Amino acid sequence: MAQQLWRADSQHPQDAGRRMTTPHLSKSLLNNYRQCPRRLWLEMQDRAARKKGLAPVAQAVYSADTTKRFLDGHVIGRIAQACWSEGVDIEKASWITDEDTGQRQRDLNYATHLTYQWMQDQRRPLFEATFQHQNLLVMADVMVPRRHGHRVYWQMIEVKSSTTPKDYHITDLATQAWVAEQSGVDLDSVALLLVNKGFELHTAGDYTGLLGLHDDPDLQAQVRQAQQQMPTTLRGAAQTLALRQEPRKHQPGDQCTSPFECPYIGHCTEKTTGQTTGKTAKQTTPQPVPIRFYNDRGGAKAQTLIDAGHTDLRQVPPATIARLWNGSTDTHGVNQRLAQAVRTGRVVMDRAGAQAALQTLSWPVQHLDFETISFIAPVWPGTQSGQHIPFQYSLHRQAQSGQVLGHAEFLDTTGQDPRRALAEQLVKDIDPRCTVLAWNDSFERAVIRDLAEQFAELRKPLMRIHDQVQDLLPIVRRHYFHPNMAQAEGSTFSIKTVLPCMAAHLQYSQLGTVQNGGEAQLAYLLAAAPPGAEKEPGQTITPAERQQARKDLLAYCGLDTEAMVEIVKSLK
Ligand code: SF4
Repeated sequence: MAQQLWRADSQHPQDAGRRMTTPHLSKSLLNNYRQCPRRLWLEMQDRAARKKGLAPVAQAVYSADTTKRFLDGHVIGRIAQACWSEGVDIEKASWITDEDTGQRQRDLNYATHLTYQWMQDQRRPLFEATFQHQNLLVMADVMVPRRHGHRVYWQMIEVKSSTTPKDYHITDLATQAWVAEQSGVDLDSVALLLVNKGFELHTAGDYTGLLGLHDDPDLQAQVRQAQQQMPTTLRGAAQTLALRQEPRKHQPGDQCTSPFECPYIGHCTEKTTGQTTGKTAKQTTPQPVPIRFYNDRGGAKAQTLIDAGHTDLRQVPPATIARLWNGSTDTHGVNQRLAQAVRTGRVVMDRAGAQAALQTLSWPVQHLDFETISFIAPVWPGTQSGQHIPFQYSLHRQAQSGQVLGHAEFLDTTGQDPRRALAEQLVKDIDPRCTVLAWNDSFERAVIRDLAEQFAELRKPLMRIHDQVQDLLPIVRRHYFHPNMAQAEGSTFSIKTVLPCMAAHLQYSQLGTVQNGGEAQLAYLLAAAPPGAEKEPGQTITPAERQQARKDLLAYCGLDTEAMVEIVKSLK
């Protein structure tokens, strides 16, 4: 039986359990290498430094979106495991208590040993089955035994909190399957277990139909093809790990955000004097302004200038810009202003045009901003996977003189479906005579439309509010450009880019733990968690943490609409 499962020439997991040294690479680390060799190098340095209690060369900073993705992954993983009631959780069973320290820790050698034992049994599905080949150790989400005649083969399933297959799913599967097969496992197929788009929860806690298995022949072929790269990838990763110096030849580019945001962006984009140690010094000499335009598809127009020998946007003659951006669309106008602002170092503003646009609004105006939460596995009946569910809004009322006339806000942290209470309060708070201003209004309008569809009796007033909404962003885009916006890290016309240009005294960076929409989602999960809920296994959320999260949410959403108030004042 063992011969059937483990090839004679591969390292027997039981022996591996005795002899194995600490594995050097995991699937995630190999993925880091695929994204960027420098990321792998930094990650390994970080781990080594932490073990020795030293400061790492670079601090990994994970965004709220990344954290939310991890949380979603855990939730989907738990739901997936419930699909196989007979499943054996290798991960859970491989935690041991250290005799010296009394601390619980995962023993990966023991995990490979348990995997081997349960695979011999050949009857029960395994969760987090652990395989090692050479210095690469992987854990398969689900292994399902499948009998073909007298032999048992295994289907390896990767569980993903996505609705469609992605390229990195293929490389994940290729890595897992390659290691398992090199260890001697007979796989008959690989599969992805993905979230079914549009899944709607009908009964709380019943996720039947949320996940769908994808194991078509195309997937098998793609994984087989990707496996051919494994030896090359492993060689490359090993060479990277052998480097004594950070491989700085890998400079920031598209790879930093694909397939996921790299946590070392802060480190790699920090301007330095070129030292290679962890100590960096800020660059003080003026740098050329890179040639970059707003909404320049594929950077084509910027490339035209670069090809013509331009290296600094400030040095490009106005006539050249005028020839390049000579259309009548918003984008052409914005880029003319962008180039002028960069060249002169001064704000470009068409105050009369902005005032004329503001004149057309019904004053006083109300500035509206929603915060929403989405769950990959919906928690409230009647909601769908990935649906944006509003739990908070802020509403500032502003007179034509610029004066603030009032502020209303709503935040539901009961942990119940917040939509009904929010919709009712919104209908009370919105004055039917006012223009309702939003920043990039398509989002606010979509949220209101969803509410109107959900609550038939509120449909009429909600659709009236929907029709009152207008967008403040185009008024800014058509009439204003600040030189700092040309080199903004985020989007050129994000409110977080525009606000510090127009009202330097208001800064998102001065807020608490919530400074963007992703962090607002995480704060909501803290603030609305039912008593006894855990942040991580064994870590309950304290009342003080819930209070703080609530406070931070109110401050963040309030600043979004206060920002619009200040922007309107600046345009006047
Ligand atoms: S930020 Fe970009 S360049 Fe730096 S390690 Fe990450 S992917 Fe590589």
